[in-house]
Amino acid sequence: MINKNNIWLKCLEELSDTLSEKEMRMWIKPLSVEQEDNEIKLYAPNKFMKEEVEKNFLDKILSTLSRFNTNMLVSLNIGSHTQHKEIVKEIPSGFKTNLSKEMTFDTFVEGKSNQLAKAACLSVINEPGIFNPLYIYGGVGLGKTHLLHSIGNQLSKENKKVVYLHSEKFVQNMVTALRNNQIEEFKKFYRNLDVLLLDDMQFFAGKERSQEEFFHTFNALFENKKQVVLTCDRYPKEVNGLEDRIKSRLVWGMNVSIDPPDLETRVAILQAKAEQLDSPITSEVAFFLAKNINSNVRELEGNLRRVIATSRFKKCSISLEFAKECLADLLSLNQRMITIEQIQKVTAAYYKTRVADILSSKRDKKNTLPRHVAMSLCKELTNNSLPTIGDGFGGRDHTTVLHANKKIQKLKKEDAQLAQDMNNITHILNNG
Ligand code: ADP
Ligand code: MG
Repeated sequence: MINKNNIWLKCLEELSDTLSEKEMRMWIKPLSVEQEDNEIKLYAPNKFMKEEVEKNFLDKILSTLSRFNTNMLVSLNIGSHTQHKEIVKEIPSGFKTNLSKEMTFDTFVEGKSNQLAKAACLSVINEPGIFNPLYIYGGVGLGKTHLLHSIGNQLSKENKKVVYLHSEKFVQNMVTALRNNQIEEFKKFYRNLDVLLLDDMQFFAGKERSQEEFFHTFNALFENKKQVVLTCDRYPKEVNGLEDRIKSRLVWGMNVSIDPPDLETRVAILQAKAEQLDSPITSEVAFFLAKNINSNVRELEGNLRRVIATSRFKKCSISLEFAKECLADLLSLNQRMITIEQIQKVTAAYYKTRVADILSSKRDKKNTLPRHVAMSLCKELTNNSLPTIGDGFGGRDHTTVLHANKKIQKLKKEDAQLAQDMNNITHILNNG
């Protein structure tokens, strides 16, 4: 004899014999249930789910229940049974907008590498729901989190219910909610947002239960035309351990990449950050730092802070020399330890001439081209100043080096052979 109280459990058991694991997981298990004496009230988390369940599974549910010989009524509603009881005031831990005030569009420096991502974020603000989900992907330290906060800060000014959350935190909150029997509140909380900003989705990889919860949350928001913005370290299809249905949902939306900033953008970022830190730097220093730190914005910022902190501590102004000193250890790591002499030697050998002739004042074509190439490479591949390079070339003036470099850079664009030769020389230098 079936105990009335566990009728639904029994029904679930039977259903799982006839439905696939996926159907159970997607459609049946998300239903919450309130069982009264003569009625089983099922609640679907949203309209979409209710309609799908009604269309595809209700008959099955009814026939399964009827086999238990009960006269129970069955109803299917939207919401969750806890909504009909006292609304729980306590929200799952982690409820705050979690926004950092510093990261706004105003403090975000735009460049070629992040233009598209920024534009997509702005359109989310102007027309929420237009790109849904918006998925921003790219390597570490390139400004993904900054953009999420920028959206959040802007929208919370407009009194939108917006939450920024790292995916890891989403998982933690879910686990806590499960442990405290608050999963319904958890779901309700996220599903009632206007905008969900979820950072670093790669953390979901391989976490099935979290993915599932996220998927339902996401669908619920999507259904209600609420905006979801996600970031990840790679394109959706490339995230291993992310379910296909989630991947394809992500691909439907808008995907934009954010790339490492080019030199000019790095310089602009440094100058902007230095201003914010009340320690403006000269463009000479900015170029020096930007040239030597080319990985990502976080590194750039970290090193700038280090230079500024040291200058305040030592009460010195930030000259080029000072910046070099501060970053000496970093630079020696970065530097390929290529010297002016090595460049001269390799270049001379490559062009089948002699170092002495390159250094001499001979103006024949056989020697001027290698000389200029070598000077240009010295500028490109070493951290020596123009006067030092000039000295290294038989005591020439720094303007000679400058002109040689300009000439070669221009020629290189027109002359593929020259570009190839210079690549070859660089390769030899780098590989000993
Ligand atoms: P990601 O989330 O892509 O790893 P973050 O958004 O955390 O990178 O960026 C790293 C740091 O660099 C942050 O301090 C951020 O404010 C800063 N940053 C990144 N891109 C920019 C930019 N375009 N303009 C200003 N600051 C930036
Ligand atoms: Mg980030």
